[in-house]
Amino acid sequence: MNSKSLEERYDRILRDMEGSLTARDRVGIQDFVLLDNYTSESAFLDNLRKRFHENLIYTYIGTLLVSVNPYKELGIYTKKQMDLYMGVNFFELPPHIFALADNVYRTMLSETNNHFILISGESGAGKTEACKKVLQFYAVSCPSTRVLDDVRDRLLLSNPVLEAFGNAKTLKNDNSSRFGKYMDIQFDHKGGAVGGHILSYLLEKSRVVHQNHGERNFHIFYQLVEGGEDDLLRWLGLERNCQKYSCLVRGECAKVSSINDKSDWKTVQKAFTVIDFSERDVEHLLAIIASVLHLGNVQFEKSVRGYATLNSSPEVHWLSKLLGIPPQILQQGLTHRKIEAKSEEVLSPFTKEHAKYARDALAKAIYGRTFNWLVGKINESLVNKDSTRKTVIGLIDIYGFEVFQVNSFEQFCINYCNEKLQQLFIQLTLKSEQEEYETEGIEWEPVPYFNNKIICDLVEEKHRCIISVLDEECLRPGEATDLTFLEKLEETLSGHPHLITHKLADQKTRKTLDRGDFRLIHYAGEVTYSVSGFLDKNNDLLYRNIKEVMRQSQNNIIKHCFPASEPDSKRRPETVATQFKTSLAGLAEILMSKEPWYVRCVKPNDGKQPGRFDDVIVRHQVKYLGLMEHLRVRRAGFAYRRRYEVFLQRYKPLCPDTWPNWKGTAAQGVETLVKHLGYKREEYKMGRTKIFIRHPKTLFATEDAFDL
Ligand code: ATP
Ligand code: MG
Repeated sequence: MNSKSLEERYDRILRDMEGSLTARDRVGIQDFVLLDNYTSESAFLDNLRKRFHENLIYTYIGTLLVSVNPYKELGIYTKKQMDLYMGVNFFELPPHIFALADNVYRTMLSETNNHFILISGESGAGKTEACKKVLQFYAVSCPSTRVLDDVRDRLLLSNPVLEAFGNAKTLKNDNSSRFGKYMDIQFDHKGGAVGGHILSYLLEKSRVVHQNHGERNFHIFYQLVEGGEDDLLRWLGLERNCQKYSCLVRGECAKVSSINDKSDWKTVQKAFTVIDFSERDVEHLLAIIASVLHLGNVQFEKSVRGYATLNSSPEVHWLSKLLGIPPQILQQGLTHRKIEAKSEEVLSPFTKEHAKYARDALAKAIYGRTFNWLVGKINESLVNKDSTRKTVIGLIDIYGFEVFQVNSFEQFCINYCNEKLQQLFIQLTLKSEQEEYETEGIEWEPVPYFNNKIICDLVEEKHRCIISVLDEECLRPGEATDLTFLEKLEETLSGHPHLITHKLADQKTRKTLDRGDFRLIHYAGEVTYSVSGFLDKNNDLLYRNIKEVMRQSQNNIIKHCFPASEPDSKRRPETVATQFKTSLAGLAEILMSKEPWYVRCVKPNDGKQPGRFDDVIVRHQVKYLGLMEHLRVRRAGFAYRRRYEVFLQRYKPLCPDTWPNWKGTAAQGVETLVKHLGYKREEYKMGRTKIFIRHPKTLFATEDAFDL
């Protein structure tokens, strides 16, 4: 290889880039790094809008991919497109999610290290779709053998099952993820996908018993009722009519034009067989789904003494049959709780209100635990049986930031999770990037950015945070209420710049808040939360005797979900918020040990409409997704950096002075190497331990030099 041919190659890349620049008036610029006026938010928006109207929904900021939801099929995810993007560098084709997926994959293989792709954006922005496209790309592009194809099919089909049980129609998105998902795809050294593992985060169980107007319960219920075969429905005691089930119609929109429950049911059924569900598993699983529907219809009467009674209703009959629990025991469990009086246990009857509460708690517990069982079951089928060393690509698709008219504990958890992911992004890119320049002694103009650590701390910091105050109130049953929680918040955290309540607000703001509200100034905007239900949802209480009733079930999944070994309720289980906090800390730890890649999804309008680009809405997202800061850091910085040893090891065959044996230090070797390759002086910098390369094109040209 000689340096002249490398230069020719380098020049060709430059010409190609300029070619795309001359066409910019129509299609905009495909990498924001090349934008002349890169500090202008309006210029950024203009470029995004121009491209969106040309159906070019993807744009890079260096290696970060910005994606704008087109809300229509674009025909850009075909097998032909996948083939096109395989093994091609970022610059050579228009930006695409496949290009990113392919680059992550190739980097993983060449550097034998672990990576993750963080897909973020608000509800409805296209995260789950992006995640599926990445998975589909690997399914087509990775090596194929009979065993590998098996794993591939399981990875792909885990999606429709998880979506059926974990997604629902909300006001923001007809297929909104109501749980967080982290999925590892494991690859062998040849690049074959050999296994996977899924971690799920905090399913929004409250949806099982309550849906806001215009929203639905989880898809699976409607799929079963609409799509289930006649025999199956008869066996489950169900009618083919969603209107019959009170937990399906709270939001008054059982039918949704964009959703075909019948055909989705077929997909889910097929998926069950591929991911190793036995007939018995499926039977027991559907029995549980039907039980939740029957349970939702259980009604209580008030006895003359004011207690809840339950006459042997058809619901109890079906519950008893489907769960394999004698009807009298069920009936008693639904109307009584066990309390300890002296050394004796006695049954205390519920009031009607209390019984309804216990019924709903049971429905939520059954569904939530079954969901966890389902994830475990899918994981069993994804286990890599071969123990040889493998590398992984992690995909993160978590519910997006959301703001509704009324926001409750669920939105609080979801938005807290988004704060944490933003914090991770800051730590891994904005902050670490700048710190690295400093430690490497590279001259650098610092870029200011908003660090949302202060908001994360407000929610989760030890002892003096929203979660700790909430947990303390949950320890005072009978005395504490949602409103005393709010008062404690005001006492403990007054003066915090990101927390506002009715009492803490100034005159003008006070008018916008109810007494039972608190407002958080999130990195993505202000959200007002209603404290109503916070204590209850955080406690997630399930009476001990109903657990005991469930333990008697003949249904294998229920048996598994309510194990005899479950800690006794005398010891207080961790609250929901604290469990969530712990699992998010675990996720952050998993991610910190891997190389990050980002897809930032943007929602073009609030109406789920194609072709409409609402400037105000997009501008807001550009702001809070930190895209401008990211661009400034990218623009001022160096796209690629590698330790001298690693760089030399990979590229030394390109230079006769360094190949095969280099005697000096690695840094000197790299200097010799890049001089030989003809790197321009402004294109790279030598740090203390690493070489920094300003533009990816330099590296692409170097990579290509192997072929010359
Ligand atoms: P949530 O946080 O609520 O789960 P999300 O970011 O995962 O939201 P998606 O479910 O991926 O959002 O996308 C919402 C809808 O937008 C999809 O059901 C689909 O109709 C449309 N959509 C998203 N991405 C694309 C795309 N690349 N091409 C065509 N349509 C898309
Ligand atoms: Mg989603």
